[in-house]
Amino acid sequence: MTSFHRLIGTAEPGGLLFACEIESCGRRLTVDRDSGDLTVIDHGDRAALHRGAIGGVDMPPPGLKQV
Ligand SMILES: [Zn+2]
Repeated sequence: MTSFHRLIGTAEPGGLLFACEIESCGRRLTVDRDSGDLTVIDHGDRAALHRGAIGGVDMPPPGLKQV
């Protein structure tokens, strides 16, 4: 049986960071703000299907630097 995990997106200075909400999984990936490249940091549970979700995240307008 395939399990579904939800990835929670948060805005980071360099782009978006997605982390799996399942603690025992630990999948994390980033999406580069400029290039849109997706980089997997931690694979986590490879058997699970991951779906992205961004709740209540405001991306700052281009040119506005976050410190
Ligand atoms: Zn997961």
